[in-house]
Amino acid sequence: MSKKVEDYVRSIPDFPEPGIIFRDVTSVIQSPEGLKLAIDGLTDLIGDTEFDVVVGPESRGFIFGVPVAYNTGKGFVPVRKKGKLPCETISADYELEYGTATIEMHKDAITPGQKVIIVDDLIATGGTTEAIIKLVEELGGEVVKVLFLMELEGLKGRDKIAGYDVESVIKYP
Ligand code: 5GP
Repeated sequence: MSKKVEDYVRSIPDFPEPGIIFRDVTSVIQSPEGLKLAIDGLTDLIGDTEFDVVVGPESRGFIFGVPVAYNTGKGFVPVRKKGKLPCETISADYELEYGTATIEMHKDAITPGQKVIIVDDLIATGGTTEAIIKLVEELGGEVVKVLFLMELEGLKGRDKIAGYDVESVIKYP
């Protein structure tokens, strides 16, 4: 039987700390078949949703967001950690397990009314995505879909971004 994309995900117990099972995507993207299944799976979830641009966060959101944008004939807007983008930015803070982090986007990256699809590798608590949505909406963009390769359902990240159209290729209970 042919392999599914989840067969390429390597699960690492106790990384980065005890009790966490880290879902590693390096094992997916290093395989030509795994990479194709992942990108095709994400692209298929778009269906007939109309949109203008893909937005993805550093760094694994770049890996999956850019090929989805390329596949669909759209551009890609990077969300980066504080201090990395060279032009004028807007920023949003979000909670990490210990402390907070700041992400940024170029002010001219999205124009008011543009329809945005957010792509990332994984949703855990949803905090990262909530912050990205805030940035997009601050610039007047409309988030029409949020796509993940993987979803950790038990952490209920969806609840944090309730009201948005969220889909994932692989769901872990
Ligand atoms: P959240 O903000 O939803 O709690 O965390 C999601 C972010 O953390 C994503 O950007 C994702 O890259 C990263 N992340 C958290 N846990 C994992 C994991 O098990 N595997 C991978 N690949 N990324 C993770």
